Amino acid sequence: MADTQQSTQPLVIGVMAVQGGFAEHCATIERLGHEARVVRRPQHLEGLDGLILPGGESTTMSKLLEIGGMLDPLREAISGGLPTFGTCAGLIMLATEVLDTRPDAKSLAVLDVAVRRNAFGRQVDSFETTLPFGDIDTPVDAVFIRAPRVERVGDGVEVVSQLPDDTIVAVRQGHVLGCSFHPELTEDDRVHEYFLRMIDNR
Ligand code: GLN
Repeated sequence: MADTQQSTQPLVIGVMAVQGGFAEHCATIERLGHEARVVRRPQHLEGLDGLILPGGESTTMSKLLEIGGMLDPLREAISGGLPTFGTCAGLIMLATEVLDTRPDAKSLAVLDVAVRRNAFGRQVDSFETTLPFGDIDTPVDAVFIRAPRVERVGDGVEVVSQLPDDTIVAVRQGHVLGCSFHPELTEDDRVHEYFLRMIDNR
């Protein structure tokens, strides 16, 4: 039944659009045959099947979400079960613990991991690679841009992807998925498909 539903009924996926690379996520969701809805205000969270927090600059995102009164509504929606996928700065926004950030930066604290911002150092600050990812049969394309890395995972958090040196770069806790890199900047849509399967299989 889940498969039939996936192919016949488009999902409505909200893409947080206060800052950062939301347009590419919208394009990927639409390419996969689903509806992307930009989210800027609390009322835009109503009726969503899933939510994406894009990459960008987490300290700026935090400030804009705070000013817009979005932090509590987002926390409530995600803790209430809304399937959510954060990429790069979006992963930072989801984490319970953020290292190397500004003291006034806020996070949603809905994914029990510690992430360190800009963790790959100046020399390799951006790079492209392929990585095993969850149950996807062959490695996925991944673009890292001043990416965070996951330094601690809590109980009940599954490691979904790691670099060859074991650095954790994707994690899942129930209905919440986060990755350090940008799948939306590649033509490989399988990480987004993985997220959409999480919604269908709930
Ligand atoms: N370095 C950014 C931050 O700390 C994240 C980079 C990105 O999203 N590409 O928020």
